[in-house]
Amino acid sequence: MGFRIGHGFDAHRLGEGRPLMLGGVSIPFERGLLGHSDGDCAIHALCDALLGAAALGDMGRHFPSSEPRWKGAPGRVFLEQVRRLITEAGWAVENLDVTVVAEAPLLSPHCEAMRKAVADGLGLELHRVSVKAKSSDGLGAMGRGEGVAAFAVALLASNE
Ligand code: MG
Repeated sequence: MGFRIGHGFDAHRLGEGRPLMLGGVSIPFERGLLGHSDGDCAIHALCDALLGAAALGDMGRHFPSSEPRWKGAPGRVFLEQVRRLITEAGWAVENLDVTVVAEAPLLSPHCEAMRKAVADGLGLELHRVSVKAKSSDGLGAMGRGEGVAAFAVALLASNE
């Protein structure tokens, strides 16, 4: 059996008048992530890790922001699309690990809901999905609360 590992990163700016969507979950906060889609950088990093593991490019290639159909698209839509792409290419998800970096709000109480949303979106057992939250101790743009970043790794196993 063959395995492939992939890595993903994404960051979005926080702004007024938007719901905060992370890991497919709506999180109470006075600002939300800006972007052409719903700005869910956790899902976007995860999708890039999955696409990268399968050497299928990245989100920009499959879901260009020039296409109106992706405007405001929620994370679960991208999870469904990426699930289809990697399945068609003969891969199954072994496990995923996501780290979300935000100064505020406190995300750790929402990690379990994010795990469930990601597992549901990809049709995976919960034990294959990990979501962790970190602050950056006040350092840099994330530390100043200007945005939220996410890093992800994905391990795929060949279905053949
Ligand atoms: Mg993004």
